[in-house]
Amino acid sequence: MLDLIVVNSITTKIKGLKLLLGYVYKLRPNLEQSAKIDSWLDKLRATYNWSLADRINTYQQRFIQGEYCDLRTRSVACPLTCCVLNNSATGEPWRKNGEKRTAKEIQITALPQLKKARPWYREIDSTVLQQNLERLNKAYENFFAGRGFPKFKNRSNFKSFTYATGVQLKGNKIYLPKLGWMRYYNSRPIPDGFKVKSVTVRKKADGYYVSIRIENSSIPSFPILPIDEVKTVIGVDAGVTKLLHCSDKSVIENPRFGTNPKTKRQLKIRQRRLSRCKKGSKNSKKKATQLAKLHHKIKQKREAYAWKVAHKIVKKADCIVVEDLNIQGLLKRCKPIKCEQTGRFLPNDQSAKKALHRSIIDASWHSLFQKSEYLAAKLGKVFLKVDPKKTSQTCPKCGYADKENRNKEKFVCLDCGHFSDSDWNASINLKNRAISQFNLKIKQPRKVRQDLSEPKQLSLFETPSPELTEVQRRQHSARNSKRDVPGNPPTQLSLWDIQDLA
Ligand SMILES: [Zn+2]
Repeated sequence: MLDLIVVNSITTKIKGLKLLLGYVYKLRPNLEQSAKIDSWLDKLRATYNWSLADRINTYQQRFIQGEYCDLRTRSVACPLTCCVLNNSATGEPWRKNGEKRTAKEIQITALPQLKKARPWYREIDSTVLQQNLERLNKAYENFFAGRGFPKFKNRSNFKSFTYATGVQLKGNKIYLPKLGWMRYYNSRPIPDGFKVKSVTVRKKADGYYVSIRIENSSIPSFPILPIDEVKTVIGVDAGVTKLLHCSDKSVIENPRFGTNPKTKRQLKIRQRRLSRCKKGSKNSKKKATQLAKLHHKIKQKREAYAWKVAHKIVKKADCIVVEDLNIQGLLKRCKPIKCEQTGRFLPNDQSAKKALHRSIIDASWHSLFQKSEYLAAKLGKVFLKVDPKKTSQTCPKCGYADKENRNKEKFVCLDCGHFSDSDWNASINLKNRAISQFNLKIKQPRKVRQDLSEPKQLSLFETPSPELTEVQRRQHSARNSKRDVPGNPPTQLSLWDIQDLA
């Protein structure tokens, strides 16, 4: 059996004048190291949850106590319930220079106390402990930005920790502080001029991975083509039956890695095996990892394919136009219908919609577009998102928009009679929309007639052959079937030329 190929994923952030990249490698820890990583994860999860509870409690106690302790005299009303800051935590709330600390800083300064009280935390690298609290703070920042309250973590959603410094790379070995030198699959060299910034160790179904953030401050960022120098545009319409329809008439298939009949059956079998095990038993653990491995494999296939497709579409033109999809909106559940007389809930087609939702999730348009955006930036091309409203109903010839224009795969304009494939139509509409919205100056392709070459004049001693030669015949059939012409173009020997047969 072939070894599972480690798929590298690249993420990027262009911040100011620095280029940040993320490279992912698979780790090869020995038994001792993997056991250590597992125990670290348990311990870090405990501190994460404790710190979150701490921040929640101190916030609530503020309302019990009513007011702060005296800020001016710094006299503490009660050491347990004192809450100087909004969302503060236990620990030293003041800096040496008299300034207030933020909740994150308070919790980080309390880490030595934690190590004293619980000596087993000393085996964890100190930057890892700090980054763990940084992660909690980031969760709070997300909450303040309107994205849901931080959650308490369990084993299934706490699987990583981050190093801020101290990581070294040498050949196929990586040094992780307090875990030691560890082997890894060096599937991609780190480019010259890049420095390792932060390193995250992540546990996945089939092992441990490390994602390394590398930074190069000498490269400003990817040079992006100015929008008025764009010469060619391609519109890309995403779908489920076919993954992408491009405005150049090319179609990209959807392999349905997670929802094709074969994997669906396999998933069903493994899910059933797990469900028939006794909960918490050794066997159930085994079955759970088998199921997780299958999910992981599907995910890796999907990601690899998405990179391939992204490369393909980005190479097609200077400017790539996609729809600005609201995928969350597409995945909304149907509204429940309640019968007023009986108070019962009536069928609302949710079960029928579920299959479509699964296919949409399986197609993973968002990650595909993200990858295309990154690659477009890398190649200095423009990546645009336009409003997809009514793109599949509008006629690209006359602009008439009607729901009746489209009948599944067929598109027939009720106004001017223009007809074509409806998905292809949508991609052309996206392209046209981007051209008008961003005022692009497009170079029209020159039309070349291919069948206008003049008949060749025969020389005096040449006799026209009634039959086509082998090469001519191949060329002729190739031209008809739009294939590339095989072999070299034929050259006519002149009368006294001797063909070199050696
Ligand atoms: Zn029309």
